[in-house]
Amino acid sequence: MLLIPLSLLAQRDWSTAEISSTEAGPGVYRLFVDNRVSVLVQTGEDGVLVVDAAYAQTGEKLKAAIEKLSDKPIKFLINTHLHGDHTGGNAIIGQGAHIIAHASVKDFLSKDQVQGEKTISAPPMHARPDITIEGKMTLGFNGETIEILHLPGGHTTGDLLVYFPKAKVIHVGDLLFAGYFPYVDVSNGGNPLVYVKNVAWILENYPDDVTFIGGHGPAFSKAQMKEHLQSLNETIDIVKNAKAAGKTDAQMKESRILKQWESFGSFFITEDRWIDTLYPFL
Ligand SMILES: [Zn+2]
Ligand SMILES: [Zn+2]
Repeated sequence: MLLIPLSLLAQRDWSTAEISSTEAGPGVYRLFVDNRVSVLVQTGEDGVLVVDAAYAQTGEKLKAAIEKLSDKPIKFLINTHLHGDHTGGNAIIGQGAHIIAHASVKDFLSKDQVQGEKTISAPPMHARPDITIEGKMTLGFNGETIEILHLPGGHTTGDLLVYFPKAKVIHVGDLLFAGYFPYVDVSNGGNPLVYVKNVAWILENYPDDVTFIGGHGPAFSKAQMKEHLQSLNETIDIVKNAKAAGKTDAQMKESRILKQWESFGSFFITEDRWIDTLYPFL
C-alpha cells in the first residue's frame, strides 16, 4: 500500500510546493507542507526542535521556512513514524541535529527499500535516528517539558505522540487524518481497530484545551477530534454489521455503504480503500 503514494510523488513537479506557517501555541508553529503534511516547529533560547521532516523533495523549502522562524540551529528532530512523507526530509532537517524516533523508524531507514523493480537506497547515516524511544521520554527544551510517547499498533508499529504541555499542542502523527479516512499501514504493524482505540486513549489522556495536530488535514480542537473519532467508529460499525449480515466487500463498495462520509474519501483513502482496510479485521 505504501507503493502508491511514493510512485505518485515521483511524478510531480515539486517546485510549486508551498509551505504555510501558523502559530499553534506560544512558541510552537505548524508548517503545512504542500497543503498535505503538518510539521511542528518549537523555537526558543535553546534552539529549534522540529516534529517530522515531510518529504525529501520539500526538505530545502522546509529548512528555509524554519529559518524564518528562528536563526538558531535545529537541535532535535522527532519523527512520529517511518513513512516517507514524515522522514523524507531527515537528511536536510536532521543535519547536525539529534533525530529521535521509535526503533522501527531507525530499522526502516537503515535498509534499502525495494519497490517492485525499483530500489530506493537507505538515506545517509545522519538522516537516521540516533536516539530511539520505547515507552515514554521527556525532553526539557526551551522551557517546555516535552513528552514523547510511543503508542503502537494503530497507524504503524512505531507511532509517537509529541506533547507540549505549556503551549498546549500535541502532534499525534498519522493517528489523525483530520476530516479524512486514515491510512493504516498493516504491513508495518498498523491495525484499524487499534487505531481508533489509540485515538480514544488520546482523547481521554490529554486536556480539553489542547490543539491536535495530525500528520494530514487541519489542526483540530478536542471537540473536533472527538467528532472525527465518532465518525470513524460509525463507519466501522456499518462495515461490521454489513459483514455480519453476509455482505461481501465488493457488495459494500457497489452499494456505497459509506456514502454518507464521501468527503472523508477525498484526500487519500477512498471509501473503497477504507472498506478494504476494515473488512479483514471485522
Ligand atoms: Zn504515515
Ligand atoms: Zn503521513
